[in-house]
Amino acid sequence: MFWTKSFITTSKEAPEGAESVSHRLMLRTQMVRMLIAGVYSYLPLGWRVLKKIEEIIREEMVRAGAQEVLLPALQPLELWQKTGRDELLGETMLRFTDRRGRKLCLGPTHEEVVTQIAAHFVRSYRDLPFTLFQVQTKFRDEIRPRFGVVRSCEFIMKDAYSFDRDDAGLDKSYETMRAAYERIFRRMGLDFLTAKADSGIIGGDVSHEFMVPAESGEDVLYRCKICRAFSSRQDTADSGCPHCKQDMEKINALEVGHIFKLRDKYSDVLGVKYLDESGRQRVVQMGCYGIGVSRLIPAVIEQNHDADGIIWPRAVAPYEVMVVPVNVKESGVVNAAVLLHQRLKEAGFSVLVDDRDERAGVKFKDADLLGSPVRITIGNKWLQTKKFEVTDRRSRQSVEAQDAELVAAVVRLLEGARKDG
Ligand SMILES: [Zn+2]
Repeated sequence: MFWTKSFITTSKEAPEGAESVSHRLMLRTQMVRMLIAGVYSYLPLGWRVLKKIEEIIREEMVRAGAQEVLLPALQPLELWQKTGRDELLGETMLRFTDRRGRKLCLGPTHEEVVTQIAAHFVRSYRDLPFTLFQVQTKFRDEIRPRFGVVRSCEFIMKDAYSFDRDDAGLDKSYETMRAAYERIFRRMGLDFLTAKADSGIIGGDVSHEFMVPAESGEDVLYRCKICRAFSSRQDTADSGCPHCKQDMEKINALEVGHIFKLRDKYSDVLGVKYLDESGRQRVVQMGCYGIGVSRLIPAVIEQNHDADGIIWPRAVAPYEVMVVPVNVKESGVVNAAVLLHQRLKEAGFSVLVDDRDERAGVKFKDADLLGSPVRITIGNKWLQTKKFEVTDRRSRQSVEAQDAELVAAVVRLLEGARKDG
């Protein structure tokens, strides 16, 4: 992509009211734009990151044996009355009546809908087990939307639902999903912690949350001041870091995933029953598994930035490589940038070329702000020696490379672009 042909713009300052570092950076890079409080449009850069996050999640869900579906956002209120969650959700649920007089809501989650589908199809033990998942827009009428897409009224979630014959089957599905979640967050370059949690309005008797340390989080974790290990338990924190016994400090944490053993909470009420091998009727055991997809963008940014901007982990970077031709009035420089763009794309990288007629300082500042893991500068050095400068965004270290060595140099930097080296 060439900047002058793109919809990309940046701003020096974030608008007033941006409350966290991720919110400010997402607005300064125009990843998102607010329509009304709690409702955001995703612009090209934000959309590219979102798609990359979704793709990682899809790959890991499929690897875990789940099948993708798409369930409707528009749902009959009647279904929610059957499980009693109509009242439980109260004003958090967006409701209205259509012209036929049907009482409807915009789904804040999908346990009811998916359970009703399963009730229609499951007859025998041979129909089990299975797991369905979707990546879909959810709606919640938040009293106080905050931190940009962290706490918004319309957001994107991955939700999965497992259906098993018995407790042992559910335990297995639950552990499979838990392992998949750990792979997902690790692939995105997130430091995270898994903690036993309260099941809240979703229900069931066992649940775990996946938490990441983040300024815009509204939960609490304890982090060691020395080795930076963290824990969710205050009693552990009070007696010092479990690893090095040093003092621990209270930090904000953001919930990015939550998994639940629902057991028969929904399947009993909505009648998901099957005949076992001996012809006895039994109730299906369910689990449900959520990831806040859109919320993962601010989570990644909060863990990967410095004073100058974002430092994308390669796996979710909107563009892996940023090419900066310093002086676009030199036709040789422009040609080199066009050729480089072509070559890097053929080598499989996503590339943004800053072909604007701007001062070098402006371009370098924007490159730092946008945070591609690797920057290639075509500057004075190139004019004299045909050497490109290849810079790692995180460490800011540069190497020089000529044509033939260039792709290898980029690969080396991208492979090393993970936080832990
Ligand atoms: Zn420690």
